[in-house]
Amino acid sequence: MAFRERTESDELKIFRILNNRTILPSKEKQIYSNLEKGFKGEVMFDQLTEGLNPNKFLIVNDLLLETNSTTFQIDSFIISQGTHFPCEVKNFEGDYYYKSDQFFAMNDTEIQNPLDQIKRSDALLRQFLQKKKYSISIKSNVFFVNPAFTLYQAPRDKPIIYPTQLAKFLEELNARTSILNDDHYKLAEDLVKEHKTISPYTRLPPYDYYQMKKGPCCMVCHSFTVSSDGTILACHSCGCVEYVEDAILRSVRELQLLFPDIKITTNLIFEWCQVIESRKQIRRILKKHFNKMGSRHSTYYI
Ligand SMILES: [Zn+2]
Repeated sequence: MAFRERTESDELKIFRILNNRTILPSKEKQIYSNLEKGFKGEVMFDQLTEGLNPNKFLIVNDLLLETNSTTFQIDSFIISQGTHFPCEVKNFEGDYYYKSDQFFAMNDTEIQNPLDQIKRSDALLRQFLQKKKYSISIKSNVFFVNPAFTLYQAPRDKPIIYPTQLAKFLEELNARTSILNDDHYKLAEDLVKEHKTISPYTRLPPYDYYQMKKGPCCMVCHSFTVSSDGTILACHSCGCVEYVEDAILRSVRELQLLFPDIKITTNLIFEWCQVIESRKQIRRILKKHFNKMGSRHSTYYI
């Protein structure tokens, strides 16, 4: 188990909801699709690093750090005796080529060079560690995790681990002698402590409550073709069932994530969860899971 686990960002969760409940503009649709793809790649990478011996390595995932008012990201930071390994994970799929220190898609579109990215984050990380009085050795690499990735004219002398080399890289890492001590744990704790959270709302398109498709969606396939018998919410697309109570709570959480300042009231949730026919049932569920504030006609839940 990693010292710091990776979780889906609020930004990704909100994009997911917006993609399901609104029509995303094409630019945002692209951002959303890249976020999903990136996250999938990082999860693939985590599954591989989970195979590292926990007595030898500490894995700190998904860090956003800052030095001199400049932020930089590290997908995974592997702590071991001697050298530490910051990892930049890429889930590129398909064919690309490398020419004059640049990455191109096969249609000649230039892609942001991941080597430039790690060069930048590596330099900033060194500054960051120096400021914190760590004199440690780090070795940054870019990991391409998608087995369907090919890079033509791939450079041999760059810090890149290609999909076909991943298993061997981790095997060799695992075979190293590494004894963890208090300093390693302190470094891991420091990194986690310094992690910055950024507002998830910066890259999202503007949206409002009225444009949202209402109703609880299926928890598995996200379809809105669901019906309720009062106890169970059944999906007519994939056949999955869920307790109505769980479905309502899930929908309330979606609403709160989209609109953190919204006042949760029985009427609002009644409207938000369209297929649920009983206002009473919604009130009972809100009362059970939230704190009731206000009174009579101005009751809301937090
Ligand atoms: Zn479904």
